[in-house]
Amino acid sequence: MPRYDLHCHSTHSDGLLRPSAVVARAAARGVDVLALTDHDEVTGLDEAKAAAIEAGIALVCGAELSVSWDDHTLHVVALGIDPANAGLTDGLGVIRVGRMTRARRIGEALAAAGIKGAYEGAMKYVTSERLVSRTHFARYLVEAGHARETKDVFKRYLTRGNPGYVPHPWASLSEAVSWIHAAGGHAVIAHPGRYKMDGSGMRRLLAEFRDLGGDAIEVLSSSHTSAQYTEFASYARAFELRASCGSDWHGPGESWMDFGELPEMPVGVVPVWKGW
Ligand code: AMP
Ligand code: MN
Ligand code: MN
Ligand code: MN
Repeated sequence: MPRYDLHCHSTHSDGLLRPSAVVARAAARGVDVLALTDHDEVTGLDEAKAAAIEAGIALVCGAELSVSWDDHTLHVVALGIDPANAGLTDGLGVIRVGRMTRARRIGEALAAAGIKGAYEGAMKYVTSERLVSRTHFARYLVEAGHARETKDVFKRYLTRGNPGYVPHPWASLSEAVSWIHAAGGHAVIAHPGRYKMDGSGMRRLLAEFRDLGGDAIEVLSSSHTSAQYTEFASYARAFELRASCGSDWHGPGESWMDFGELPEMPVGVVPVWKGW
C-alpha cells in the first residue's frame, strides 16, 4: 500500500522549508504520494513537481483555502488541481490581498495591547512576499520574548478572545468548492476536529459541504486525537464523504507530526485517492 500524506506547507506560505526540501524530506521518511498544500497559494508546485520526479515519489498539486463559514474560519484543502486554472488563481489572489489587510490590522491590535513593531517583525519572517500568515507573527513574537514557542503565541495573542485577534472575512465555502472543482480538484475539509463546533454544528457544516459537492474530510490529521480518527471516520461514512489524511507539516520543530508518522486509514471509509 502506498503511503499518502496529502497536507503540508513550504516557504510559499508558512512552512520553514522550500518545496524541494519538503519533498525530499517526505520521500526520505517513506511517503509515496505527497500533496503540497500551501495556504491560498500554488506557486510552490512547479518546484515540488520537479523534486518529486527526482525523489521518485508522486506529487499531488494542492492548496489549502481559507474560508469563512458562519462565524468560523475553516480550511478547505484542494487536491489534484490544475495550478494554472484562472478561476482558482484569481480567487486565491483575492484571499492573499485580504491577508495583507488583516496583517496590518493584527499589527495595530498588538500595538494597542502594548506590543509595538509586530507588523514589521512579522514581515521579517515572511518567506514569500505574496503571503503573510499569523504564523509569521507568532515566530516574531517568540523572537521578541512574548512567548516561549509559537503554540503559546496562538494561545495568548492570535486567537479569538485574545489581544492580537482580528476577525476576517475569507472566501465562502461555496466559492472555495467551486474554484477547486473548476480547477479539476477534490475539495476536502481540513482538520475538522480543530473547529470549535458541537455535533449539530459539524453535521450542519458537513451537510452543506456535501450539498455543495464537497468531496472529502480529513480523517487522519496531526490535529486529531485517535478518538477523533474514529469520530471523523464515522462522519465520513454518515455523510458519504471520502476520507483524506495529512500531517499538516510546517517545519522541523514546529509540527505535531513528521512525515511518515500517519497511521493507517480506519477501515470502512473510502479514501479520497480511490480511482486516482
Ligand atoms: P492564518 O491562516 O494566517 O490565520 O494562520 C493559520 C496558521 O497558523 C495555521 O495554518 C497554522 O500553521 C498556524 N496555527 C494556527 N493555530 C495554531 C496553534 N494553536 N499553534 C501553532 N500554530 C497554529
Ligand atoms: Mn499554516
Ligand atoms: Mn489549516
Ligand atoms: Mn495546513
